[in-house]
Amino acid sequence: MAGTLYLVSTPIGNLEDITQRALRLLGEVDVIACEDTRHTRKLLNHFGIKAKTVSYHEHNERERATELLELINRGSDVAIVSDAGTPVINDPGFRLVQLAIANNVRVVPVPGPSALITALAASGMPTDEFFFGGFLPARSGARRTRLTELRLLPATLIFYEGPHRIAATLKDAHEILGEREAVVARELTKLHEELARGRLSELAARFSSSASARGEMVLIIDRAVIQGESVKEKAFASIAALIMQLESAGLDHRAALKKAAKELGISRDEAYRRLVAERGN
Ligand code: SAM
Repeated sequence: MAGTLYLVSTPIGNLEDITQRALRLLGEVDVIACEDTRHTRKLLNHFGIKAKTVSYHEHNERERATELLELINRGSDVAIVSDAGTPVINDPGFRLVQLAIANNVRVVPVPGPSALITALAASGMPTDEFFFGGFLPARSGARRTRLTELRLLPATLIFYEGPHRIAATLKDAHEILGEREAVVARELTKLHEELARGRLSELAARFSSSASARGEMVLIIDRAVIQGESVKEKAFASIAALIMQLESAGLDHRAALKKAAKELGISRDEAYRRLVAERGN
């Protein structure tokens, strides 16, 4: 019988954040595929776990994925771990997960910390809709193009960032997105954990010195604001936009008008009057 592929999350700094289930499974599986075997070995040694490890990183992902799949098909249980947090999330693992799914291998997630969710939860930014953009491009031109594409997104924006680029990224974000509230979540769960909150321009000034820009970081930026209203509120303030949204979700025009009226807390007649007025503009 084929084995199982486990995606095992590990701490993003504080070793106490490892789960009981992760510890049990890391001790039980036949092989642990690690982004960096030396790094994971330290974690395993700390918890007294003896296990066979193999490297699985972006440079050998292709061949390793095939080898690991063969092992699983012959009955071995394999765990993937990355250096920190949830594997596959901006870390190696995607190819093996895809291959496992295509070959009907059971894929079992073993949840735990992830820097983006940890940062978002503590950021104080709206969490109802968010966009995770991974790392922004390293070059300013490409970064500014990407930020321009995301400018009107009605969602909290989340990016991973490193200490060397944070100042330049904050400056570009301020110039392209305009002044917005933001949070730089630094060294989460570690000794020097910091959640630096402020406007983009303030944070850009603050992180311009390399002394303050140290460690691992997540950048969280508030959603687009147009004339005092978020893009989402603005969309809903326009009854035509709301009706269109409801229609694209499958309602016919009558039902969409009725639902829009209800959502806006107005009568159907009033909703219809507003729609006609808006269309006349
Ligand atoms: N798979 C990981 C996860 O689930 O969070 C993310 C891996 S990604 C290659 C590494 C990036 O995550 C870092 O450059 C940083 O932006 C962010 N990160 C990881 N640990 C962090 C921490 N303790 N505090 C803040 N950001 C962190």
